[in-house]
Amino acid sequence: MKAMIFGCTGQDGSLLARSLLTEGLDVVGISRSTNPNLSSHKKLNINGNIEIATANICDFREILELINKYQPDEIYNLAAQSSVGLSFKQPVDTFNSIINGTVNLLEVARFASYNKPIYFAGSSEIFGDTLYPADIKTKRTPLSPYAIAKDASFNTVQVYRQAYGLRCVTGILFNHESPYRAPNFVTRKIVEGALQCQKQKDFRLQLGDLSVARDWGWAEEYIEAMKLILRADKQRDHIICTGRMTTLEYFVEKVFAGLNLEWRNHVDINSSLKRPSEIKYSVGNPLPMLDDHGWKARNDVDGVIQMLIDYLS
Ligand code: NDP
Repeated sequence: MKAMIFGCTGQDGSLLARSLLTEGLDVVGISRSTNPNLSSHKKLNINGNIEIATANICDFREILELINKYQPDEIYNLAAQSSVGLSFKQPVDTFNSIINGTVNLLEVARFASYNKPIYFAGSSEIFGDTLYPADIKTKRTPLSPYAIAKDASFNTVQVYRQAYGLRCVTGILFNHESPYRAPNFVTRKIVEGALQCQKQKDFRLQLGDLSVARDWGWAEEYIEAMKLILRADKQRDHIICTGRMTTLEYFVEKVFAGLNLEWRNHVDINSSLKRPSEIKYSVGNPLPMLDDHGWKARNDVDGVIQMLIDYLS
């Protein structure tokens, strides 16, 4: 068995590659770069165990050649400009990587009569504010270029499944963390900032709006959910979440308290870090994943915070 991962150098791509290798699959990882950043692969001790190929997910010929050459049994499309904040500054790159990349991959699959499953990494951002835990039928109100791109791609995956019979499916991921997340993401920034405050008493951590609330889980567990969704006999889109929502202030308070610090003594609220439009509440309904796949997040925000502190300190 062989798996192909687009976006293999990122947090999820690296963890997924390790998980697939552990199962005994051959893994081909695709990166845009001829000199990919393999720092997470090195930390996970998988560097050299997966074949890395360079390709632009938006290039039809390159992707067709890849699929013909490797004939993967499963494909995971995780490639994306994945920062919501950055998507306000780089909307074109965000749309290209997510919408055009997804359509191109599906078009290649259709053209090549590829009949194996393809997983697409959807995002909870497509829902906008969720007053109730979101499920697959919840009304979607994307509030950022990133969310618009993920929403369009989610629709596209459904159309290719229904209209062309492709075995493509979306797992809509709520926030999930690990030490392999890029340092510009707020959760890692908070933990590393708090650790810095421990060492340097006058260090000030700059944060934006702490009243936003999210549903945070642990990335390693979400990788397992992706595989279950992709490998199901009948492909059905699913939400991957914990079902518990807490504010960013809760996250900050818990991280600092875990290091015996009082967050109010170390954090500055910097309004320039607030986004042009921001989701206030985001939480998902975990029950359909439990019913269909027996999958349930083992760690919610408290476990995530503790593990991030343990790994990063
Ligand atoms: P990362 O940002 O860590 O990894 C994404 C990978 O995509 C990168 O390693 C990069 O690989 C590739 N990539 C980055 N920018 C572009 C671009 N402009 N064009 C094409 N490829 C690009 O993301 P995660 O691993 O955290 O997330 C995986 C997927 O899940 C993403 O699609 C993300 O949007 C989605 N998701 C993640 C959530 C989370 O909480 N982590 C929540 C919801 C959805 P390279 O440079 O080697 O090509």
